[in-house]
Amino acid sequence: PEMHPEKPFQIIQPPFGKDTTTYAPVSARRLEGKIAIVTGGARGIGEATVRLFAIHGAKVVIADVEDVLGHALATSLSSSASVSVTYFHCDVSSEEHIKNLINSTVSKYGKLDIIFNNAGILGSQTKNKKSIVDFDPEEFDTVMRVNVKGVALGMKHAARVMIPRGNGCIISTASVASVMGGLGPHSYTASKHAIVGLTKNAACELGKFGIRVNCISPFGVATSMLVNAWRHSGEEEEEGGGGMNFGLPNEGEVKKMEEFVTSLGNLKNATLKGSDIAEAALYLASDESRYVSGHNLVVDGGVTISRNCVGL
Ligand code: NAD
Repeated sequence: PEMHPEKPFQIIQPPFGKDTTTYAPVSARRLEGKIAIVTGGARGIGEATVRLFAIHGAKVVIADVEDVLGHALATSLSSSASVSVTYFHCDVSSEEHIKNLINSTVSKYGKLDIIFNNAGILGSQTKNKKSIVDFDPEEFDTVMRVNVKGVALGMKHAARVMIPRGNGCIISTASVASVMGGLGPHSYTASKHAIVGLTKNAACELGKFGIRVNCISPFGVATSMLVNAWRHSGEEEEEGGGGMNFGLPNEGEVKKMEEFVTSLGNLKNATLKGSDIAEAALYLASDESRYVSGHNLVVDGGVTISRNCVGL
């Protein structure tokens, strides 16, 4: 169909006959009236998603362990009228915490439409933890507890309240490390592959209840996770577990990290930002994707299909 130049959203009848499609109304607020939980929403990709979901009319609950950041974000966003964002302390690896999170959201808002299981950790990137010959079973357990058990628990308790309503949307953050080897540490890569498996299996089971289950696989975004790993790569592990510094990255570090990621990337005229992942989450959370389920939406500028792909 042609677009009218002055009225970009008005569809002119196509030349090949009458268009009988019923188009959804063009809505600036694509999540109006929806209730969403974003785990790991206090900073990084989760924060960008909280902001975008709120702009699109969703009432958002940030679930995180970073209480200071989470509260500050909720307070600053809620200061604008028509925005409702709250913070809830929740360690996603604890079933008790996840249960409380879902129960408190449903008792406050009466329902849950969307859960974005986004909280995740990379694990140690120090030099003596990188090789499979130095595989650390304790670290593996830690990464799997947060990245896989945390996602599965989010799916479980969200599904329990979504099934009786006959709809809902479950999204999780995987990674390019869910589709290719060599792009992350061993435990992390295993955990992200597992998220794709969980997504497919849950999508199979929950389709009959009208619940869609998808995941998103970002390439490198210059968040605390990536910048901290970069700060510590090449270091030896310290006695007693080492100290990963989880301070927020400064502007210079973000810029350097972005340049580095772009240099490894396939698409050269764009820099991947948290907001790009938030846009993918918005698509999967909104009715525009109403027939998309069991999908792993890769947001990587084509890195995982490029023969020039270089490991991070
Ligand atoms: P980040 O470290 O900035 O944010 C992660 C958030 O999760 C933090 O707010 C942290 O406090 C929270 N979190 C960690 N453990 C938690 C727990 N047990 N319970 C609740 N919250 C917890 O990193 P990010 O890059 O924004 O990561 C978000 C997701 O994106 C992760 O799942 C990560 O694996 C994935 N990812 C990131 C990249 C990247 O390049 N940044 C690429 C691919 C995938």
